Amino acid sequence: MIFDDNYSMTIDGKAVVSDAGIAVVNPATEEVIGHAPDASRAQLDAAVTAAKNAFPAWSARPIGERQAMIAAIADHMLRHKSAMARLFTAEQGRPLGGAEWEIDVCAQWCQAVAGFTLPVELVEDNDTRRVEIHHRPIGVVGAITPWNAPLLMAIWKMAPALLAGNTVVLKPSPYTPLSTLKLGELLRDVLPAGVLNIVSGGNDLGQWITAHPDIGKVSFTGSTATGKRVMESAAQTLKRVTLELGGNDAAIVLPDVDPKTIAPQLFWGAFFNSAQVCVAIKRLYIHADIYDAVAHELVEHAKTVALGDGAQQGVDLGPVQNGMQYEKVKQLLDDARAAGQKFLIGGEVPEGPGYFIPISIVDNPPENSRVVTEEAFGPVLPLLKYDDIDDVLRRANDSETGLGGSIWSNDLDQARAIGARLETGTVWINEMFAFLPNAPFGGHKQSGVGVEHGMAGLLEFTNSQTITSRKLASAV
Ligand code: NAD
Repeated sequence: MIFDDNYSMTIDGKAVVSDAGIAVVNPATEEVIGHAPDASRAQLDAAVTAAKNAFPAWSARPIGERQAMIAAIADHMLRHKSAMARLFTAEQGRPLGGAEWEIDVCAQWCQAVAGFTLPVELVEDNDTRRVEIHHRPIGVVGAITPWNAPLLMAIWKMAPALLAGNTVVLKPSPYTPLSTLKLGELLRDVLPAGVLNIVSGGNDLGQWITAHPDIGKVSFTGSTATGKRVMESAAQTLKRVTLELGGNDAAIVLPDVDPKTIAPQLFWGAFFNSAQVCVAIKRLYIHADIYDAVAHELVEHAKTVALGDGAQQGVDLGPVQNGMQYEKVKQLLDDARAAGQKFLIGGEVPEGPGYFIPISIVDNPPENSRVVTEEAFGPVLPLLKYDDIDDVLRRANDSETGLGGSIWSNDLDQARAIGARLETGTVWINEMFAFLPNAPFGGHKQSGVGVEHGMAGLLEFTNSQTITSRKLASAV
């Protein structure tokens, strides 16, 4: 039985445990639900060696075989969906429906990535010369993931990395390692030994990955502060890096929308996963003409949302995932209260157990207040009033980060024109979280380096190789 309480790493296709263990806590109860191995440096070395040894055969396989194995990952995840979702909810906190959604998206992603191939571009082909551009796998990819969407972040890295012919050493967050370890266990029967290695441990393990001389690329998702450390460490061996980092995304609501219709979409764009989404709405700019009406509808919607243990029926929103984040969000609330800011709903955090923060909506706080300038990564949303498009765009763009943003209007041409002026990697118009396997996703400014997804994302797992060939001059 795979979904028991024993958790092991996957190194060279085998189960590996460690003397030390990391206690994993259910954020709804604060009870320890399992222990993940805490990998030693020697165990990381073993994982990297296994990946390095598996690389020649894996990269030499016809791409059709790799495509078939990536599609098979989808089948395995779907087959174990309900057990995996229960474990996901227990360690991550998100209600079961949202956990199942993540597994469904992982499966769709694998199916889509399995349809990709590496292009060969012919830039010159004539009687004397042929010039081709190929894309070669890099070797061993180190993948490091955060705790807000552990399975999806893992799939977003390993599926394209493997398809391109790389082998992988993946490290989940120490807060949410369990479902990723089980995914590794499931895939021992699907992928050849050494092709996918899953190691668990703390931040030191992440640091060892970024410094390891036999890892050729690091694909990292996490905070901007850690992303900078990753890039610095990777520079010592000139590793390729893709960094998907934090954001403080603005949504701009134009005056032509119907507040009642739009409120649930805005609400879930901000609060899905208890607002622990890199591209959630984190600053909501509403035109002054409809500010009061939209604010009212958001609060009315918030009152219908049940907060609780995600394993229970009827719960819509779970706790914040860990104690560190819980304290951080509580401090932001304290700061807003101390500054005399008004909460339209929420603002007071009840006593535990569980890292529960009630939905908190702040009424038009000053633009320079912490709830506006900082990424809360928890259920605190500032509503901000504006009158003028140039002014709101200036405010929306006044951020060191530039991950995503959204525009809400019935006038699509106008919305697209405004959206084009956002300094962000993604602009959504009248929708949220439209992640697409065939469209690049990445951050401007300090939200990241490089992209995931689409052909551009796939090619970040490759080195470019130009082959020029000229016919030898005839001897005559
Ligand atoms: P984090 O940076 O604290 O940790 C992310 C991962 O990095 C963890 O696995 C951690 O163990 C590891 N790590 C920590 N220190 C390291 C080091 N020195 N070297 C290498 N690895 C190290 O981030 P988090 O708190 O887990 O995640 C929340 C953040 O992630 C938010 O800022 C959020 O916006 C961002 N995020 C971004 C995206 C995106 O696609 N842009 C997606 C999800 C989350």
